[in-house]
Amino acid sequence: MSIHKTEALVLKTSPFRSSSLIVTFFTPHFGKVRGVVKGVHREGEIRQAGFEPFTHAEYIFYEKKRSDLHLISEASILDSHHALRDRLEGIAYASYFCELVDEMTEIQDPHPRIFDLLKESFRFLAVIPPPRLATIFVAQLLREMGWLPYLESCLECDAKPLEDGFFSIRHGALLCKNCRSKDTAAKPVGAATLAVLRSYSRDALADCLRASHSVSVETQISVLITTFLNYRLGKPLKTRKFLDSILPKSAPR
Ligand SMILES: [Zn+2]
Repeated sequence: MSIHKTEALVLKTSPFRSSSLIVTFFTPHFGKVRGVVKGVHREGEIRQAGFEPFTHAEYIFYEKKRSDLHLISEASILDSHHALRDRLEGIAYASYFCELVDEMTEIQDPHPRIFDLLKESFRFLAVIPPPRLATIFVAQLLREMGWLPYLESCLECDAKPLEDGFFSIRHGALLCKNCRSKDTAAKPVGAATLAVLRSYSRDALADCLRASHSVSVETQISVLITTFLNYRLGKPLKTRKFLDSILPKSAPR
């Protein structure tokens, strides 16, 4: 059994036996880790504070060689993210980010940039309009997982540079106007939208958030990214359904 000390963000927890918790957290260098925290009562115990979802803390865990369910011994909180817990919307978006990371990553497959993306996104959730942050979060998560379409040239004829084109959800790629017939369901993407999509797939989160774009470009990107994500996941996420249920019908997603 090896002992590790690591910072991590808690993705989710569930009760385990009478007084324990199963915690899934995301670390910079071990990726997603699952472990049992023993002796945590559901009510009123101080020890549970370090294991609430969204908590950023330093943990010690004992890695079991024959199981992917390790033993977590203690937490030293770095940021409990109180600010994003103040509003239902903050909790709903943070839960959505956590479920996305949980669904898209494998156990103990390291993705340090996804850890940074999640950590920064929790920080920005308290100060940036969440729908816009969510679109960029999803685009960058898709990029880090290698799922984001290649946006520089036409999939079919390799034409480049493309100023505009057609986004094929099915092929996960761009098509030029001459090759659009390869996927008649491909969505037209104008030059402004394509430029922003490219920046979301290339630039740092803070730089993407600093730039401002027209509402129509933001909306088009949000629809494209969400449609593509749902296609790749192949199922709706519980947290996305909840988010949609609490947002007014006319609100941006
Ligand atoms: Zn083409």
